This record gives sequence, C-alpha cells and structure tokens, in this order.
Amino acid sequence: MNAEKTKQYYDHLTDEDICHCAYCQNYVRKIRSAYPELAGFLDRMGVDIEKPFEAIPVGPVNEMMLYSGVQYVIIGSADDFRQVSIENADIFITDSHPMTDLKEDHFVIEISPVLLKQTGEDSDDM
Ligand SMILES: [Zn+2]
Repeated sequence: MNAEKTKQYYDHLTDEDICHCAYCQNYVRKIRSAYPELAGFLDRMGVDIEKPFEAIPVGPVNEMMLYSGVQYVIIGSADDFRQVSIENADIFITDSHPMTDLKEDHFVIEISPVLLKQTGEDSDDM
C-alpha cells in the first residue's frame, strides 16, 4: 500500500464523486463519529472514511441502518495488507467491486458489516 498516493487520491475526490443516494449520504454523515477507531485506521492508510467507493446497504434493522459492506480504493500493492477486525467490522480485500477506472496499481478493501443510526432529516428519502 502507498499511504501518500492513497491520500492524494482521496484529496482529489470531491462531493461530486461520492454517491448521492440517501444510504451513502447517511453513511458519510455518521461514519466518523460512530467508528472513530476505524476512521483512524483508514486515515493511517491515507483513506478518508467519508469518501467511500461503494456502499452496500441492506436496510433498517432495529432503527439502525445496516450496510453489509462499504468499499474503499487503496493505491499501491495489496501484498502488505492483512485482514483486521476493528470495532466489530472486518476489513478485507475484495475482488467483487465496480470498475475503478484507475491505471495505477491499486486494490479495493471492504468493511463489513457497518451499522449506523439513521438521520432524522433525510428519512423520507430512504
Ligand atoms: Zn449510494
């Protein structure tokens, strides 16, 4: 993995690059405060937790929103990445993801599962 190049990749992503559906926007708003250790872990790899590549929502569970997986792009080689578990979420390499359109060496990790409170404001969109 290349934390410096990964950080550059995330620095160039804007709000326009993040999915605008209610599930993803809810994720973006809640994830950092709900999973601070996970956010710190991703930060050290150069990943901005508020810029997911892909979120896979399952639906509401006991007034929480369940995501079976949330994916992030990492720049560099996957060789030095090892699977970990943080705050009850597993973080692992996945080959099952949309096209990234990136030419440089990269891979995609998935965080699973993620459970977040639903927002009040945008609940109509869910
Ligand atoms: Zn979305």
